[in-house]
Amino acid sequence: MTAGAQVCARHPDRATTAHCPRCGDFGCEECLQTVPESGTRLCPECRQRREAHLRDHDLGADRKNRIAWWALGFGLVGLVPFLWVGWVGAIVCGIVALRRAPNLDGDGVGLAIAGLVLSGFGVLSTALFVALLAVT
Ligand SMILES: [Zn+2]
Ligand SMILES: [Zn+2]
Repeated sequence: MTAGAQVCARHPDRATTAHCPRCGDFGCEECLQTVPESGTRLCPECRQRREAHLRDHDLGADRKNRIAWWALGFGLVGLVPFLWVGWVGAIVCGIVALRRAPNLDGDGVGLAIAGLVLSGFGVLSTALFVALLAVT
């Protein structure tokens, strides 16, 4: 092996010029594999770390969207006239979800708004109900 030649971090018998852009470890053809989404070639450890990170990220988005789902659920409950628990729940959850809007997945904002709109309908239907009762 000539001086200055690099070897793969995992296969010391294999000379290589390529290295992982993430951790800088040199790697042979076998070790550095292309990540389909980004087109970069990463070493096995970095690919694993990346996947673990993506999994965490997905879970995080799920949790963030959950509050928006709650807003929608409460909104549906609030459609029943006089069920003010639903309106309060939808408004609280909807506002909390919208305050986190930059972190929500695309659907989250729509869900939160749907919940708020549904609770609005609930309030309206109750108002109508009350109005009808007052007339008769
Ligand atoms: Zn790496
Ligand atoms: Zn290797």
